[in-house]
Amino acid sequence: MVKIVVDNAKCTGCETCVNTCPVGVYEIKESKSVPVKLDECLVCRACEAQCPEGAIQVIE
Ligand code: SF4
Ligand code: SF4
Repeated sequence: MVKIVVDNAKCTGCETCVNTCPVGVYEIKESKSVPVKLDECLVCRACEAQCPEGAIQVIE
């Protein structure tokens, strides 16, 4: 199963990943991105590519 790691030290809560993910995996909680619907992930890696801080790792 896919695993998503968000580096909270890098995440600014910009919501780019929330707006990029086609299936709504992310929510912002306390100004940090949390992959709350991981089971929906299509492993398209758009979030990883678009995060301006390089805070997301999608691991298969
Ligand atoms: S795109 Fe990156 S910096 Fe922005 S909220 Fe998502 S994980 Fe955080
Ligand atoms: S890899 Fe694609 S489907 Fe999975 S969380 Fe990132 S943007 Fe969403």
